[in-house]
Amino acid sequence: MPDKSYSEIRELLASATVDYTTKFSITRSCNLACAHCGENSGPGVKNKLIPKEDVIFYMDELRHNPRFKCGGFLISGGEATLAYDIDPNYLSDICLAGIKRNSLMILKTNGWIAKAGAKYYDRFIADLELLATKSSDLFKLHLSMDQWHDNFSENIQIMTELYTNPKLRNISSEVMIQTAWFNENMDRILATGLPYEKKLKISEYVGRTRLDRWSGHLINIGRAKKLDWPHKHDLDWKDELDHIEEKGESRFLGYNFTSNGKLALTLGMDNSIAVNYRNKKGRFIPAGQLRDELLDLAAQKISEKMR
Ligand code: SF4
Repeated sequence: MPDKSYSEIRELLASATVDYTTKFSITRSCNLACAHCGENSGPGVKNKLIPKEDVIFYMDELRHNPRFKCGGFLISGGEATLAYDIDPNYLSDICLAGIKRNSLMILKTNGWIAKAGAKYYDRFIADLELLATKSSDLFKLHLSMDQWHDNFSENIQIMTELYTNPKLRNISSEVMIQTAWFNENMDRILATGLPYEKKLKISEYVGRTRLDRWSGHLINIGRAKKLDWPHKHDLDWKDELDHIEEKGESRFLGYNFTSNGKLALTLGMDNSIAVNYRNKKGRFIPAGQLRDELLDLAAQKISEKMR
């Protein structure tokens, strides 16, 4: 075990540079209950959204505070399009607010919306058309389509719409695919005959830890609670700290806002380090202050673990 004190670890973490996408897990509710889910989402979880103003407040904070290098925002869940069930304007308002702030907005879906009936689906397509008129560079649709998500045909329906609807031609998409089953999944997508983006988002599994990468940057870490993965090794804090020391960057430092009112620093193998992003009086805590609190907690946890 390396002999590192809390303050050394704190300093290392604070100095790490990272260009990342902040994830808003706007709801933990989901139509699916995948065995590999790192969020513990599912149909049994109440559909409760992060308030719109919270998302927009922190988009401003993370975009304008020079201590963050936040390039974009991932609107995820659970299943993000379940937001239509509560507030039909929720997703478009947030994506438009992000585009207005010159941020890349990525909306993630497992295809539920194509199953949900015309009332929701038509609105969803109309929203995509609206976003396409605002920016073709700052909006992306992320489709989770592999054999674990049994919404493959719905995702293909959405993908087909992206390639055949002239108003959506400029919207780009990314496809989430798991490295362990890469060839199998790619064969399935290629068999549809649809073109697909070269820039795939890839999720890989190291032990039971899920690493989500986009454009080469690690954006999130989750732990699959219900499965054992075929890989033998696991990551540890030492590996991450060695990397920060060597390269001056963190692969794992990212922020994840959750619908239970918390901000979690996703770092190393453990994303349970979380603090409330509103204080007891319901006021927002500035992102810079939250970052400090999160780094304190992370450094404390790591140094305890390394003793
Ligand atoms: S679709 Fe995504 S959020 Fe929903 S259960 Fe599966 S992995 Fe979890």
